[in-house]
Amino acid sequence: MARTLPSATGFLAAVQQDGGQVPQPAFASLGSRTEEREERHGHTLHTRLLHAGAPEAARACGPGAAVVFAGELYNQAELRSLLPRGTDPAGDAQLVLALFDTYDLHAFRLLNGRFAALVHGEGRIVLATDHVGSVPLYLTAALGRVLAATEAKALRTAPMGLPLPAARPIRRLPGVHQVPAGTVLEVVLGTGTCTAHRTWAPPHSRRITAEDEAVAAVRRALEHAVRVRLGPEAPLVVLSGGIDSASVAALADRAAGPIDTISMGTDDADEFSQARIVTEHLGTTHRELIIPTADLLRRLPHTVWAAESLDPDIIEYLLPLTALYLRLDGTGRRILTGYGADIPLGGMHREDRLPALDTALAHDMETFDGLNEMSPVLSGIGGHWSTHPYWDRDVLDLLVSLEAGMKHRYGQDKWVLRAAMGDVLPQETVLRPKLGVHEGSGTTSSFSRLLTDAGVPDGRVHHAKRLVVQELFDQVVVAGRHPDEVATDDAVQLVVDRLERHAQPIP
Ligand code: ATP
Ligand code: MG
Repeated sequence: MARTLPSATGFLAAVQQDGGQVPQPAFASLGSRTEEREERHGHTLHTRLLHAGAPEAARACGPGAAVVFAGELYNQAELRSLLPRGTDPAGDAQLVLALFDTYDLHAFRLLNGRFAALVHGEGRIVLATDHVGSVPLYLTAALGRVLAATEAKALRTAPMGLPLPAARPIRRLPGVHQVPAGTVLEVVLGTGTCTAHRTWAPPHSRRITAEDEAVAAVRRALEHAVRVRLGPEAPLVVLSGGIDSASVAALADRAAGPIDTISMGTDDADEFSQARIVTEHLGTTHRELIIPTADLLRRLPHTVWAAESLDPDIIEYLLPLTALYLRLDGTGRRILTGYGADIPLGGMHREDRLPALDTALAHDMETFDGLNEMSPVLSGIGGHWSTHPYWDRDVLDLLVSLEAGMKHRYGQDKWVLRAAMGDVLPQETVLRPKLGVHEGSGTTSSFSRLLTDAGVPDGRVHHAKRLVVQELFDQVVVAGRHPDEVATDDAVQLVVDRLERHAQPIP
């Protein structure tokens, strides 16, 4: 039977010589758990999978290697064409194993997906993220022993000391590192040597394309990216009524309609009327959800817990969505979002000088790694699976590489996307100026107000937000507290007291 969610949405896996115990991880993502142990090449591979009922397809074992795989692939058909005739892998983990047998770690340069994977080969561990690290992956290691997990907090009770210069250290979790985006990390068990191999990098060159070709290419790539992200059931599109999510909704509706849509707003602000223009045009089953601002701000600890990110701006974008995911009925929805379109299209820079636009865009593409904006844990804490068509590998390669004049044209931002969607969306939606999720939901202003009401001077609000996010990170990730037991107001008060005492900011 076709399944809505991937076989596994997260894992903790340990490879060690002594067959010893592995910690019971406290994942933020919901899911059933399955535990497996297997002896291979003188080591024990011990796996705890987070899944939605059918974990078998998330593990694969062959004579040379074993694969643990969380997430999903979007170019299976292409990948299968590389395998010898008669090879018919049953799921994504088996497919990766079959490719690994032929291409070794270069197999990961072939994949277009949203995943984190571990391969246990003879004497070595290979840890891989997708091209943009959209499923975060962490590790800690000692000589002969590697522990890897899709959430940093799952490793906090078992940190080990092997230096891993090829990976990114995690604040206040000594020994715990994140595998960079678009990277395969190879750890040799006998020597502890750790080597990084890049499997993807954002294009630095820009292609020169005729208008109509660029528009057709964007439409084709996005249509494909949406289609391969649909499951067997009606998808849910989180919709603001902006061009990014309206485009995803329109293409999903054409491929698999009728679809469900949902929009969130607060008692401060909403975009409901704009979203309704889209839902009425498409005829979706639509829901509007009002989250009181006080409840929204109470979800700050949950957002930091899920994203494991320290960036206050990113947390502000993710807060309204996390609050929305937590309020969805039931579990197990496949969610499509328009998140991320602005990064390769330069949409949030409101910049009409082309060199400045391309500089900003190139900077954003160089610095997204580690922010965990696309982490599936954000919807995973409600038991759902989210996926981002604009960060499909082919869509991203195309959008980034279009010359800036296709992105800002005729006085419009994201021009090429708007032009590509003109025939399936109302004109009003196509021409609507950008409004960020943090703006349309009043999140930025209500978080600012929380701080100024507590006594933070206007000029120090952004700095205070950074300190609040750090404080929450320290509590819910580093100290392992459940976010239900952590109050946003207490974290704000702590930061205000610290600022008032002129204490140094937390390093
Ligand atoms: P635009 O960038 O033109 O405003 P957009 O609103 O679709 O388009 P963002 O504002 O960047 O994109 O928001 C990111 C994504 O978050 C959206 O594509 C959508 O999937 C989701 N989203 C934003 N606001 C809401 C909302 N109020 N309700 C539900 N989902 C939302
Ligand atoms: Mg918007």
